[in-house]
Amino acid sequence: MVGRLVERLSFARGDVVAEDAPVNRTLMAKAGGWLFLGGGALVLVVLVLPHDQRISEPGLLAVSGACFVTAVFVLLRFDRLPLGAFEVLAGVASALVTAARLFAEEGGESGTGVQALYLWVVLYASFFFVRRRALLQVGWIALLYAAVLASEPASSATVTLWTVTIGGLLVAALVIGVLRDRVLDLVERLAAAARTDPLTGLLNRRGFDELLAREIQRSRRTKRPLSLLIGDLDGFKQVNDRHGHPAGDRVLRRAALLLPDGNRATDTAARVGGEEFAVVVPETDEKGAFVLAERLRHTVAAAFATADPPLTISFGIVSFPSHGNDQEQLLHRADEALYAAKRLGRNRSVVHHPAVVGASQRPAR
Ligand code: GH3
Ligand code: MG
Ligand code: MG
Repeated sequence: MVGRLVERLSFARGDVVAEDAPVNRTLMAKAGGWLFLGGGALVLVVLVLPHDQRISEPGLLAVSGACFVTAVFVLLRFDRLPLGAFEVLAGVASALVTAARLFAEEGGESGTGVQALYLWVVLYASFFFVRRRALLQVGWIALLYAAVLASEPASSATVTLWTVTIGGLLVAALVIGVLRDRVLDLVERLAAAARTDPLTGLLNRRGFDELLAREIQRSRRTKRPLSLLIGDLDGFKQVNDRHGHPAGDRVLRRAALLLPDGNRATDTAARVGGEEFAVVVPETDEKGAFVLAERLRHTVAAAFATADPPLTISFGIVSFPSHGNDQEQLLHRADEALYAAKRLGRNRSVVHHPAVVGASQRPAR
């Protein structure tokens, strides 16, 4: 249920146009299309049900037709519409409601109440648009409705009618806006939690996979190098064996604090396995990555020098594209390099190279 909500509202899906789009574009288009269909149908209902003879039937038919045409257009073509077009369409919807109201009330006092459909536009806008843009729609409706009322014979209730209608719409917009912000905030927090390792606060495997995929894409585009370190604590099992699992967890937390968390620099560490960490290092070739790995290795060794047992870390290092052309190959090579570092005696950093990997895989004599 929550997963489906995240999926429907998440920005991370393929059919979202812009990164800052507040909600899923398909949902926005479908909701808009169906509202236009509903509006068109309701206007037809006005014509079918007993009504005052003075209303303009051709006028209402035209409004209904315009609603259906817009609905079909939105439902079929939304993937080619820029995001701003949805705001224009909301403005068009308000104009159509206004036209319906003018045609329906042409004879005066015929009272179809069709202006209640302004509420649809307001609910839609305040759910899908940012607050300022939604309020702009309410402002547009306020203008249209004022023009309608001004065009009708003045009555003592005119100002009250306008004030109550627009005031009601404004409150509806604010309420939906607040609910929308809460939903988006919740979605954002759930999405962040799904990518975070609860023990260390670093990215988890899922967050790491997504980050690495993004960075590989970026590196392909910019032709700038990208490196990856995979680090594994040496002899970590002994910590658990000697002091228990909770003590092992504390050590993992402390070790994670020594790694770059992506907040201050572009390098980002993730916990990709039990006592295995990865660091994604953009804009850096294998030499730069080796220097970083050595720096981290010394930091870990120094921090745990007096621990029991003293802890160290081994790193496998690869660069894109020299060590692999896709994510799977890079990870495989990084694992091979890490394995070589372990075989060569641990507490070291190894840049992947077929000779080193091959030599370290030769059975020990
Ligand atoms: P090596 O130098 O070859 O890496 O030796 P190692 O002992 O570090 O490696 P090994 O893979 O044998 O052991 C890893 C241990 O990490 C085994 C497992 O009990 C422990 N471990 C995995 N996840 C966690 C965790 O979340 N918390 C704790 N406390 N221990 C964990
Ligand atoms: Mg280990
Ligand atoms: Mg391990």
